[in-house]
Amino acid sequence: MPTAPTPSAARPAPTAPAPAPEASSAGPVTPPAVSGDMIFDAWASAFYPKALKAGIRREVLDREMAGLTPDPRVAQRDSRQPEFSQPISVYIKGAVTPGTASKGEQERADVPQLADIEQKYGVPREILIAVWSRESAFGAIQGDFDVVRSMASLAAQGRRRDWAEGELIAALKIIQSGEVSREKLKGSWAGAMGQTQFIPSAYLSTAVDADGDGKRDIWASSADALASAANLLAKGGWRRGESWAREITVPADFDFALSEGPKLTPDAWTALGVLRADGLPWTDADKAAEAQLLAPAGAQGPIFLLFPNHFAIRKYNNSVAYALAVGLLADRIAGGGPLVRPWPAETALSLADRMTAQRALGALGFSPGTPDGIVGAGTRTALRAWQKARGLTADGYLSPDMVERLKTEAGAGAASGG
Ligand code: CA
Repeated sequence: MPTAPTPSAARPAPTAPAPAPEASSAGPVTPPAVSGDMIFDAWASAFYPKALKAGIRREVLDREMAGLTPDPRVAQRDSRQPEFSQPISVYIKGAVTPGTASKGEQERADVPQLADIEQKYGVPREILIAVWSRESAFGAIQGDFDVVRSMASLAAQGRRRDWAEGELIAALKIIQSGEVSREKLKGSWAGAMGQTQFIPSAYLSTAVDADGDGKRDIWASSADALASAANLLAKGGWRRGESWAREITVPADFDFALSEGPKLTPDAWTALGVLRADGLPWTDADKAAEAQLLAPAGAQGPIFLLFPNHFAIRKYNNSVAYALAVGLLADRIAGGGPLVRPWPAETALSLADRMTAQRALGALGFSPGTPDGIVGAGTRTALRAWQKARGLTADGYLSPDMVERLKTEAGAGAASGG
């Protein structure tokens, strides 16, 4: 903390630490950063006392903030919303390819520490290799953005200010500790760093040294990066010896309103007609766990029971598509075959169609929340409720056909109501 001039005679000796003074009255905490960008400089002035309070030393802050300017590429990427959402099958088919699986098999043999990492954290090496593939193409694409500048740019922009300021303070703590230099602290535009793309706070809390050189080098050391990923998954609830998911089949009259719903044991699902798609029995480890049913491409696509380890993968990246891609790629690296039921042909929906469907659901009394064009769990739940009420297969899958039905019904309602 900076030392404000204290007229010691004028105040009683404190017996407890005095409350931190307000930033505005704390004396000279003006940042040296003068980027010429008014919004950025105003943000930097407000951030400076917060960083000092969080324990960043004055000289470190002065040095790292000096001359900092916003990176226009960061704001640009942060605001990018694609016109068409990528169907989940397209994303997964791009991630789980024979080439990637065989590259993964090779890498599995090439990292000598993997056996120890697997033993220590209980996460199968194929899962770690699959995460590595998704995060950085096995270390090849790590990003070369200056993480301090990227986080400052996002913080100044404001949409995710609290998050970005927290990550900026974490990045400054890493530099302050001397563990990683500013020059090496590189990452994606969103601050994800190294071979397994850890944000700075995750690096501080969760990165580990696995090659024994005393440094947590997730950039240059595959062993450090993969062990750090294993540690993150273990902290996220990974359960040793259990599956991440199993492809299943359901009876023709199955109630898909149960998808993304209750977590039941495999025996309870069996009582509802659910079977493993490969015809094999449940393992004892799987029988002891509770699983949720998911039909990510609707009733016509592959259907899964998601075990707790699926949700551990989502601690890495809270996306159903990401977690499915990691798990399915891991299965292929481990020598597993393709899905029993292939992905159906999916049609990309425009942003306008997704918003229209959400507004229609709301108008018909099945509110999915504020229409934002993102078909998430809220939209799927609302869609399932509407499908069930109309006697349709309640799989919560927004197909072009469903968009048309919703448009028609909401349009008719609006016409008769007006
Ligand atoms: Ca190391």
